[in-house]
Amino acid sequence: MLRVGIAMLQGARHEHAEALRGASKELGFDVEIVQCRRHEDVDSTLDALVLPGGESTTMRIASQHESLLNGLFDWMDAHPQRPVLGTCAGAILMAEPGDGRAAFLGASIARNAWGRQRESFEAVVSVTLEAPEVDAPKAVEPAPRDRFSHQPLEVSSQAAASVESGFPGVFIRAPRFSNEGLRADAIATLGEEIVGVLDGARLGVTFHPELTLDRRFHRWLLTAATLTKEAE
Ligand code: GLN
Repeated sequence: MLRVGIAMLQGARHEHAEALRGASKELGFDVEIVQCRRHEDVDSTLDALVLPGGESTTMRIASQHESLLNGLFDWMDAHPQRPVLGTCAGAILMAEPGDGRAAFLGASIARNAWGRQRESFEAVVSVTLEAPEVDAPKAVEPAPRDRFSHQPLEVSSQAAASVESGFPGVFIRAPRFSNEGLRADAIATLGEEIVGVLDGARLGVTFHPELTLDRRFHRWLLTAATLTKEAE
């Protein structure tokens, strides 16, 4: 059984939980999803982590009370081989952890660099990440939500559908990686633009794969976590 933590700071957390459940069904893996809310929730029994997208400044502020970000970063320092998927604001936090910590992604990133919210867009992204293929996405029950909890975002059916020719990239007030001084592998591109980097076991993308039914990034995470667990 794999244990995968999701940083429950803010943003698209429940969408990642659904994507992980879908990916685990597609792969036939047994996965426990751990909602990490406090520093102590992030312990060495976790095999992988997801840092969702949302708003990185809000996340840094939300983290102050329970020191969750420090817990996540400490875990990443302690377990460099265990995989982490950071999407959008999550990638910002990995590239710029702050407080004098070394970056977890060897890439410079600029926040909100496509422009304002109205410059958000969808585009087909080329992906060269090795993840097991599946014939069709598996349906999963949406997570139960009460009226106080986060509601899932609406995305267009075009973005939600798995497309064969490329990855359906949903860019929401997205950051941009710099091509200069890159010390990681570019695994996702939009024309000349690098939109996803892999640095060892750390994967950061500037778009939102959890808002689509193409779960290859989540399948990558679960597969990488399994391989690392076997090797440890
Ligand atoms: N603009 C956000 C930030 O700077 C990131 C946007 C996102 O995660 N979709 O944190």
